[in-house]
Amino acid sequence: GDGGGGGGGEAAAGLAGRGPEMDPVSRLLGILAQTVPPNLVKAGADSNILGVISFSVFFSVTLQRQGAAAQQVTDFVHALEKVFMEMVRVVLLASPLGIGSLVMAKVMGACNLGDSLKALSLFMVTVLLALAVQGLVVLPLVYLSLTRRNPLRVLRAFSPAFVSGFGTDSSTAALPVTLECARALGVPDPVSRFVLPLGATINMNGTALYEALTVIFIAQVHGVDLGLGGTLVVVLTSALAAVGAAAIPSAGLVTMLLVLQAAGLERFSGDVAIIFTVDWFLDRCRTVVNIAGDAFGVCVVEHWTRALDLNPGTGGPRDDDL
Ligand code: ASP
Repeated sequence: GDGGGGGGGEAAAGLAGRGPEMDPVSRLLGILAQTVPPNLVKAGADSNILGVISFSVFFSVTLQRQGAAAQQVTDFVHALEKVFMEMVRVVLLASPLGIGSLVMAKVMGACNLGDSLKALSLFMVTVLLALAVQGLVVLPLVYLSLTRRNPLRVLRAFSPAFVSGFGTDSSTAALPVTLECARALGVPDPVSRFVLPLGATINMNGTALYEALTVIFIAQVHGVDLGLGGTLVVVLTSALAAVGAAAIPSAGLVTMLLVLQAAGLERFSGDVAIIFTVDWFLDRCRTVVNIAGDAFGVCVVEHWTRALDLNPGTGGPRDDDL
């Protein structure tokens, strides 16, 4: 990204750019149209993340269906991934200096440092409260209403997975522990092996919540009124961006640019540098909520497969009070 570009004129741009450039419905339709890019290379060059993701999903599903016939392509993609990961690792060596410079430019440009820090602290408290409500109230209530079973048991059984998610900052890294917890709770292996990896990849309610809150925060800091339509666009695109985020540390921060774009706030994308300073902690917390979503999800699926008598054998000790 080129986040460092135009920091100076942002205050002015914030005021000048307040008029409605496009109505929310057209913006939403525009986002949906982005999922089918006419030119893949252009989509990559224009940071059309949704277009690249939808193409990648389509490509990989088709590739996988070719089996051995396409093995060379699969190997090539794996090798390419290794090369890029190594390049990223080298580039990341410069990240302390790069991020430090970005943050410093923001801090020096801020008119009142005290106010900025206060706003950032309030933002963190809001995110933490919202995550707590999602993980401890909303998800348990959804589980309770769908299964009429005790959600506290699920929270307790999956607590090692939550600790692991908090420690590793990644739902994928915590996946083996999540699978083990599901097994200990009596969820059959075929159910957990299908639901949990899928959930870790696409079900990220903590990330969706975080992305929406952050974009609303950035809009408020600049005095931009999103209005009801704009807020709905933010909510919807946050859900999409969370699906597109990989289950690795700080992935949500990257796909958040998509939400900023959808809300017509891409001129403030440099502000992500400030959010980055607190993201290491907030990311851990939202990862725990992401895993909680998967945990409740797998228990609901287990409940339904049992109710329909579809359970394909058990994985661990059976627990009828799941
Ligand atoms: N770290 C998160 C996860 O692995 C993804 C994110 O929101 O950055 O679930």
